[in-house]
Amino acid sequence: MLRLKNVSKKFEELQAVSSVDLNLWERETIVLVGPSGCGKSTLIRLAIGIITPDEGEIYFKGELVTPENLMEIRRKIGYVIQEGGLFPHLTAIQNIRLVAEYLDWNPDKINTRIKDLTDLTHFPVDALERFPLQLSGGQRQRVSLMRALMLDPEVLLLDEPLGALDPMIRADLQEELKGIFKSLGKAVLLVTHDINEAGFFADEILLMKDGKVLQQGSIRELLDDPADDFVKKFINAQRNRI
Ligand code: ADP
Ligand code: MG
Repeated sequence: MLRLKNVSKKFEELQAVSSVDLNLWERETIVLVGPSGCGKSTLIRLAIGIITPDEGEIYFKGELVTPENLMEIRRKIGYVIQEGGLFPHLTAIQNIRLVAEYLDWNPDKINTRIKDLTDLTHFPVDALERFPLQLSGGQRQRVSLMRALMLDPEVLLLDEPLGALDPMIRADLQEELKGIFKSLGKAVLLVTHDINEAGFFADEILLMKDGKVLQQGSIRELLDDPADDFVKKFINAQRNRI
């Protein structure tokens, strides 16, 4: 579905992403994990074409992404920005339907789609008229997810979608999200800094440091056969100490 081939990106002197290869297949969930600043969000932004790579190519369903086809391809990719990225001056429902309105969907189609999405994400319909600040953290995440799913994209990119939630809500939403991924059968690229969360979601994990992928594999492979000391340390630092 989505392929990053030998992709690199520099900001001034900082090598934010360095020669990364990634191949996301249909129905697959890949998780990018690594410490803050290792290049996870940059890689997601490269994948959706918000920033362009200095080197390497990006392919969507086998087609090279170029400035000419970028906008069309972007509509086939749902993106949940780190921190949610909702417009604070728009209500939940306005945020969700924004792009569909821009694309001139008819109002009945928009309403039917939003009803389906509130069912899917268990979002209370009466909260749709609230502004983001009037919603709980968990509800805001659901709105961000509904907005990303509105156009029924083929690929979903989620940048720390559960980052700011307290542990109990986070655990509930993890379960729900996994169920949603499964029922929708989308290709998913998810970012987290939490190795436990990575293990929970991932078919395949890419563990990054300083813009590079240090190890790629299942959580079992990372646990049983860490590529180097950093991988071992990163995993051990987050395991339960009780
Ligand atoms: P992560 O999401 O893993 O925490 P990021 O991808 O956001 O990391 O950032 C990787 C590195 O690139 C960081 O050092 C960050 O400061 C830097 N960076 C990210 N975006 C920019 C930018 N637009 N301009 C300059 N530096 C950036
Ligand atoms: Mg980030």
